[in-house]
Amino acid sequence: MSNSATQYLLDAKRMPTHWYNIAADLPVPVPPVLHPGTLQPVGPSDLAPLFPMELILQEVSTEREIAIPEPVREVFRLWRPSPLFRAHRLEKALGTPARIYYKYEGVSPAGSHKPNTAVPQAWYNAQAGIKKLTTETGAGQWGSALAFAGSLFGIDVTVFQVRVSYDQKPYRRALMETYGARCIASPSMETHAGRAALEKRPEHPGSLGLAISEAVEIAATHDDTKYALGSVLNHVLLHQTIIGQEAMLQMEMAGDDPDVIVGCTGGGSNFSGIAFPFIGQQLRGGKKRRIVAVEPAACPSLTRGKYAYDFGDTAHLTPLAKMHTLGSTFTPPGFHAGGLRYHGMAPLVSHLKQLNVLEAVAYDQIACFDAGVLFARSEGIVPAPEANHAVKGAIVEAMRCKKEGRKEVILFNLCGHGHFDMSAYSSYFAGKLTDQSYDEAELAMALAGLPSVPA
Ligand SMILES: *Cc1c(COP(=O)(O)O)cnc(C)c1O
Repeated sequence: MSNSATQYLLDAKRMPTHWYNIAADLPVPVPPVLHPGTLQPVGPSDLAPLFPMELILQEVSTEREIAIPEPVREVFRLWRPSPLFRAHRLEKALGTPARIYYKYEGVSPAGSHKPNTAVPQAWYNAQAGIKKLTTETGAGQWGSALAFAGSLFGIDVTVFQVRVSYDQKPYRRALMETYGARCIASPSMETHAGRAALEKRPEHPGSLGLAISEAVEIAATHDDTKYALGSVLNHVLLHQTIIGQEAMLQMEMAGDDPDVIVGCTGGGSNFSGIAFPFIGQQLRGGKKRRIVAVEPAACPSLTRGKYAYDFGDTAHLTPLAKMHTLGSTFTPPGFHAGGLRYHGMAPLVSHLKQLNVLEAVAYDQIACFDAGVLFARSEGIVPAPEANHAVKGAIVEAMRCKKEGRKEVILFNLCGHGHFDMSAYSSYFAGKLTDQSYDEAELAMALAGLPSVPA
């Protein structure tokens, strides 16, 4: 492989056959998920109304490698292995001695990393005889991924889309409908949770936590319906590890090894996807790298949240998970990276943050768009607003290398393209984008309302 190559394509035959389960390598196990009534660890039977058994077993598995079913790999071949690029032109634009690589997940049919878990989730549900799935979506990325996956395996998909995104991104809804899904703005009149929220606040902008409540409520009250979550849970992070496993092989092809790995974090799944296989090497005694999670300053769960047991949703229908949280009743301001507007963080990511295996930083929206536009003009790909956070994080590292004169290798995950988010770019160019800060009083109130769980 020539050193001047910009793109590192992995032969289809080398697409990973197994997902990597970091639970096998943790020095301390992740705290258990608790039943909110008994405060005892939840068992498979507690989760059975919501998820098929294969996914529940993955959720609690400590096996290091879990085989990717062949029918799932067959679908993956539509876009996987995804490309890894060396960002030569961005490096030049920055004048950095660092070498920057990015793994591009926008090549999937839905335009992001989300189909990496939507496809196996739909497949395991179909295997269990499930005909209907409900879910939530923020920016519409997860909703379109599950709509796509459902269409492949004959599953009806209903998506509750957070109100602000539903209004900002009509073409995401059109995409979900093209794949045959039904898309409802959340909060809606279709559930108790939605009606209660609208009663309190008729102009409610919605939140991921609230949309989850609506989707879970429908699944919990209908025998023929299960629920699918696009982030946060262990099995979702597991499915995303195919990103990092491919990236590892591609970095080898490039003859380089990352010193710093950067990803954006909403619920933590794409970040885990690129980082966990590398972190696993370190936990097994291999090279120590810096792992940087980038989150929005307007919804800073890892940098400003509390590490505590909390509900995954606003209406408190889910079990309690120990995670960095802003409080389940916290409604983040309606900034453009809708996929990052979640009050909590994946328990596995939170746990690794507590163990000092990873770092977290938060950046404002405008700085992230500045980074995204520079990236587009250097590398040609227009990143999703969420992905702009990872781009910003990588640029900050590259500029540090420039200042310190260090030739470090930076790898980041470009988790999706921004083709459905161009109205956000239009606002940015029109100077209409603002750095929204969250309401400190609301955060304090949401944190004060955390459930009390004895240590
Ligand atoms: C959903 C989404 C995110 C946030 O979710 P994670 O689980 O943190 O990855 C980030 N970027 C894109 C493009 C998304 O679709």
